[in-house]
Amino acid sequence: MRRMIIDFHTHSHASDGSLSPSELLGRARSAGVAALALTDHDTVAGYVDLKQDATAWDDITLLSGAELSCNWGKVGVHVVGLGMDVDHPVFVRGMHQLSTARMQRAEIIGERLEKAGMSGALAGAQALAGSSQLGRPHFASWMHAQGHVRDLSQAYGRYLGSGKMGDVKTLWPELAEAVAWIRESGGQAVLAHPLNYKMTRTKLRACVSDFVAAGGQAIEVFSGRQSGEQVRDLCKLALDSGLAVSAGSDFHGDRDYGPRLGFDTELLPKDATLVNVV
Ligand code: MN
Ligand code: MN
Ligand code: MN
Repeated sequence: MRRMIIDFHTHSHASDGSLSPSELLGRARSAGVAALALTDHDTVAGYVDLKQDATAWDDITLLSGAELSCNWGKVGVHVVGLGMDVDHPVFVRGMHQLSTARMQRAEIIGERLEKAGMSGALAGAQALAGSSQLGRPHFASWMHAQGHVRDLSQAYGRYLGSGKMGDVKTLWPELAEAVAWIRESGGQAVLAHPLNYKMTRTKLRACVSDFVAAGGQAIEVFSGRQSGEQVRDLCKLALDSGLAVSAGSDFHGDRDYGPRLGFDTELLPKDATLVNVV
């Protein structure tokens, strides 16, 4: 494998990142990233904007990408799609379904927060999101601005995090469906941040096995915070499962102690196979 700095998992303000797609590209360039995928949650709007301005990225390989929300049984998981034809009708239809699900989910979160005494939650979050994909971070910011919570982490801890009232999962497509959309539109399907789901080892292996059966091609072995040991461990899981590996920062913006852009492929073990996009 040729050594290079890659970043196959990033967010712009088209979803819940804080930078515009072109600002993100500038940061990636400064970080020495040679191949970048913009993988906003359930939208390719930022990528499409960036791609239109060909002069902006002529020195960097820009891949199409998106981070798709889906369910594996009762667990909400994320699948990163890389290198799809974003105009493929199957992909377009899938993205539309995700947008609709996201909006319906926001309405349910809004209703629940209303009942919990937070009047105007949906409209407030929508105003903060503007034209971006509406998500829980917008609710969290609104709750903080309104003084309902002390800080963003309290918003998740009390209302929006896993198992709380704002954790609405049922509307997402099944994992296999999200993988199929990516595959049919010519992309590579990557199981995002496998350690974030807090599954037991056995459960994670079952999830990866279903992902493989659905046509998944790679797992993320680095998504911003993993130790060298975790990266090697995930590479072994990939190898055992016959999967390639992918890596990115899951960068959302400049946050204290947050991840920086870029991953050096030199950190991968020699027997790992990088996802087939560059
Ligand atoms: Mn996010
Ligand atoms: Mn994610
Ligand atoms: Mn992400």
